[in-house]
Amino acid sequence: MKNIPYARQCIYPEDIRAVTDALNSDYITQGPKVAEFEDKVASYCGARYAVSVNSGTSALHAACFAAGISSKDEVITPAISFAASSNCVLYCGGIPKFADVLEDTITIDPASAKKLITKKTKAIIPVDFAGHPAELDEIKKIAARNGLIVIEDAAHALGAEYKGSKVGCGKYSDMTILSFHAVKHITTGEGGMVLTNRKDIYEKLVMFRNHGITRDKVKLINKNKPAWFYEMQFLGFNYRLTDIQCALGLSQMDKLNSFIKRRKEIVKFYKQEFDSMEKVMCLNERGYAASSWHIFPIQIMIAKRRDEIFNALRSKGIGVNLHYIPIYLQPYYKKLGYKNGLCPRAEKYYERTITLPLYPQLSRGDLKRIVNATKKIIDAL
Ligand SMILES: *Cc1c(COP(=O)(O)O)cnc(C)c1O
Repeated sequence: MKNIPYARQCIYPEDIRAVTDALNSDYITQGPKVAEFEDKVASYCGARYAVSVNSGTSALHAACFAAGISSKDEVITPAISFAASSNCVLYCGGIPKFADVLEDTITIDPASAKKLITKKTKAIIPVDFAGHPAELDEIKKIAARNGLIVIEDAAHALGAEYKGSKVGCGKYSDMTILSFHAVKHITTGEGGMVLTNRKDIYEKLVMFRNHGITRDKVKLINKNKPAWFYEMQFLGFNYRLTDIQCALGLSQMDKLNSFIKRRKEIVKFYKQEFDSMEKVMCLNERGYAASSWHIFPIQIMIAKRRDEIFNALRSKGIGVNLHYIPIYLQPYYKKLGYKNGLCPRAEKYYERTITLPLYPQLSRGDLKRIVNATKKIIDAL
């Protein structure tokens, strides 16, 4: 039987046509498609500004730079996320402080975050885990009271909603980052974006992705220079996204709502099927949130049997995965001094979790196969 991956991109003929057209155009990088894609995502999410970059990781790095994070600044991030959510702090010389997660949504626990605040804290990076927005209202209040910047890692959550507003609209966060990696809601191959409503931040981001260089007459430090003049004002990077990729992104945006709709249908099916199983716990979706469901992690509520179930599913061609190992348990972070036991709820979740396949093109047959195999394996234990 064919292998079912845990995630995969959905590329249609019109996507391929859009890319071919871009390749045949006058620009293959930094042409008109870049701004068009940025405008389309910004208006979808309800943000004033969008800056595209070449990955979600670059977006996080750019956001930390624009937040002014530098040597010894502390930044609070959840223990359960992809390593990039805290690596971006290290890129800037800052110190990640890991908060524990909420048991039902595995997003950052605001109470745990609050306890980590010191005089050195500069920012919080909540992660919209699996597509479910973090407790953004509470995070915003904590940030406002302590003068912190909020960088929302919405790599999982394009199209999600929180208390009636779209993730990325800037109501709760100074910056929101997106990823367009192949497994995310829409893809540009690799790619990312930072959304913000703040002009000062927007201007920093635009220069950061282009070596810290500007040609804008208004922004030059040296005035009255000839037309060719350009100025590097800080150390930036080449983090630009190409026209070819933006053409793909534009075409993918047309399908975003249908992708999300299908993801929600699949999750509804999974939840109905697992509802009666005591040994399987699904993530909660809080009443005021609408997850856009990037991944579907379940928790196995029988001690120490997760790996057996994981391996059995893999051997049946079902591409399960694991999201995530608590970041601070990685060898690199251990070397920096982080210790086991730092975030008990994150560690408990990690012991129990398995990610089941989730992507729009999963068929009804695929879904039945996944659910039946999971049930059979667990019931046989
Ligand atoms: C995918 C992801 C990123 C990084 O995005 P890339 O585009 O792969 O660099 C960051 N944070 C989270 C939570 C992610 O899932």
